[in-house]
Amino acid sequence: MSDLDFLFEKLESADKVLVGAGAGLSAAAGLSYFDTAVFDKYYPDVRRLGYRCQYELVGIRDDEWSVGRKWAWWATHVNYVRYIFPAAELYSKLLGLLDGKDYFVVTSNADRQFVRNGIDENRLFEFQGNYDNMGCAGRCTPHTWYNKPYLDRILERLDHEKFECPDDALPRCPYCGGLAEMCFRGEDYKERRERYVDFVESCEDRRLCIIELGVGFNTPGVIRWPFERITYQLPQSHLFRINSGYKELRNDRGDNDIPPEIEDRATFIGTDAAEVIERLCEMKEKRDK
Ligand SMILES: [Zn+2]
Repeated sequence: MSDLDFLFEKLESADKVLVGAGAGLSAAAGLSYFDTAVFDKYYPDVRRLGYRCQYELVGIRDDEWSVGRKWAWWATHVNYVRYIFPAAELYSKLLGLLDGKDYFVVTSNADRQFVRNGIDENRLFEFQGNYDNMGCAGRCTPHTWYNKPYLDRILERLDHEKFECPDDALPRCPYCGGLAEMCFRGEDYKERRERYVDFVESCEDRRLCIIELGVGFNTPGVIRWPFERITYQLPQSHLFRINSGYKELRNDRGDNDIPPEIEDRATFIGTDAAEVIERLCEMKEKRDK
């Protein structure tokens, strides 16, 4: 039996399905932070500053840019990732595979692709928050608010020459009038996190199929390591680690860093997430005929 057949069988027979989606899934859906052509087209002001792709801007430090330039960046970047880039069919296909199952999705992606493709939000935990929220930089209030109108205003007023949001267009807190900031974790973050924990706890003694898609090593504490622990602790679970990258890390079995403690209940599939999802959809169609 091929690994993909095995995955399909496990998915079909599972009582519960836990999905972990990393940057590799959005990359497989076409949203790559290394795409220089996209950068040239949608980030021309940033390109002029010498940057070549979105990835080079990930984690830019506070002291590197002025507040005005940081807002220019967020408005430009969120506008592309969240609004110009379309809802990806790959996510919709993945949700189709989960349809009718008791599943939960945890993702490190802030791009809202699951929400845009209609996931039941009670089944989603965005571990690193998402691109929709804004909060008070001075923390005068725990409330967050939808940032799009503010980002649109920045884009209207942007000084393209300097790549800066002018002072009088900087987003301000509606409560205290101080500066606002991007806020990745909305007010319901804790609640959603608890739902994730509840789901995992409900998987004890159940056949749990764990599918990890495109999760790398940038933030392994978010999905990769917890999924290994969950697999280890729940003897009826099986982990599928789907990742076409990190080829240099594969051991002599061709695995991508699967710990020996779980190697009999973990399967590494070194194929692109898009191809795996397509194939699973084909298998499902064939079975439904
Ligand atoms: Zn405030």
